[in-house]
Amino acid sequence: MKEVVILGAGYAGLRALHVLQASKEAFHITLVDRHSYHYESTSLHEVAAGTQSKEKITYDIQDVVDSQKTTFLEDEVTKINRDSKTVHLKSGKELTYDYLVVSLGFQSETFGIPGASENALQMVDIDSAVKVNDHLKEKMAEYAQTKNEDDLKIVVCGAGFTGIELLGALVESRPSLAKIAGVKPEEIQLYCIEAVTRLLPMFDEKLGNYGIDHLVDWGVHFLTGKPIKEIKAGSVVYQTDKETGATDELASQTIIWTTGVSGSHVMADSDFEQRRGRVMVSPDLTDPSHSEVYIVGDVSAVMDKESNRPYPTTAQIALKMGDWAGKNILRQLKGEATQPFTFKSLGSVASIGNTHAFGVVGKTPVKGYPASFIKKAIMDRSLFETGGVKEVLSKGRFDFYH
Ligand code: NAD
Repeated sequence: MKEVVILGAGYAGLRALHVLQASKEAFHITLVDRHSYHYESTSLHEVAAGTQSKEKITYDIQDVVDSQKTTFLEDEVTKINRDSKTVHLKSGKELTYDYLVVSLGFQSETFGIPGASENALQMVDIDSAVKVNDHLKEKMAEYAQTKNEDDLKIVVCGAGFTGIELLGALVESRPSLAKIAGVKPEEIQLYCIEAVTRLLPMFDEKLGNYGIDHLVDWGVHFLTGKPIKEIKAGSVVYQTDKETGATDELASQTIIWTTGVSGSHVMADSDFEQRRGRVMVSPDLTDPSHSEVYIVGDVSAVMDKESNRPYPTTAQIALKMGDWAGKNILRQLKGEATQPFTFKSLGSVASIGNTHAFGVVGKTPVKGYPASFIKKAIMDRSLFETGGVKEVLSKGRFDFYH
């Protein structure tokens, strides 16, 4: 019997699993993930800020595994050998495949900035997001004892989508953090340090400013045009003058790293032709040199002919790619030709807290309360596409009206 191996149970991997499991063809699937649960990576910032519990954004992978067809292995992928069609796992196990779906997701990108891995908190999975929240609560409790102002300062590094959404959630969690510290919410100082001056370049300036201005109104301090040069234990060093290279330093006991992501290191470790962990795939989403290896989600780069740049990595495109890879494998199993991937973005919406959001749906700008409604609908659709009705119901996420 033919063997399909799926590496990673994120948005792309689970969507591929869903499509493959629905087929009546006779083949076996092995799904590998280092966790026993799937998590919605688009909500990690809420867990980090403490506005959402980790249980609300996770579910057991076994819940969506059809044991008649699929074996789930909780293990870590260390290397893929495309010549021998094998996958090496941390446990020492080796898997053999006829078709492979590589959907290993993202990791934090530090761009080699000194101290970033050691001294800044990452927000890349459930454990690291929970760690951010535990750290925040610990610092607030410490402030109550020491009155060290730096315990009340939170610095978010980078004002991309992740940084902006995190700041929105942090604004919302300020009252509960303030309670621990025994201060007023506005005494908790939120900073964002960003290299460029034109924030959120994917939106027109007016729309981008809508989100930024709200955060500023809510007390967030933006330091823009200030590339971060080093993270020390307890401070961020950033450049203030490009000509002279002069720097300044901002002391803080909570520094959160959200300056961008790269695809899994397994891609480089396995000698894929990649850039920042992303492989430029063939039109049908396969590896250019191996037509049985599909590369989808954050480890994949697909050219957007309109902008002449790869599409940005989002949950939306990951779900679509997983779906497409699953269907193309079914075509190959039947001896049919694969189809080239097509993608039309439905738009993107960034939330700033629970009741505000802004973005573009189709070509229409959306903002404020209606946008936050749309954002929740998008999130529930992602949950539906990976987990199905059961997960949407069990997560009880029907608080559309807040
Ligand atoms: P990003 O690359 O989009 O943003 C990172 C930001 O950090 C950029 O503004 C960059 O200029 C800044 N930066 C980089 N190096 C810096 C330095 N040394 N000093 C200061 N600033 C620095 O990364 P992200 O926000 O993690 O997003 C990753 C991907 O996920 C993107 O494609 C994004 O669109 C997507 N995403 C989408 C959503 C959504 O749809 N709601 C939410 C989160 C992320």
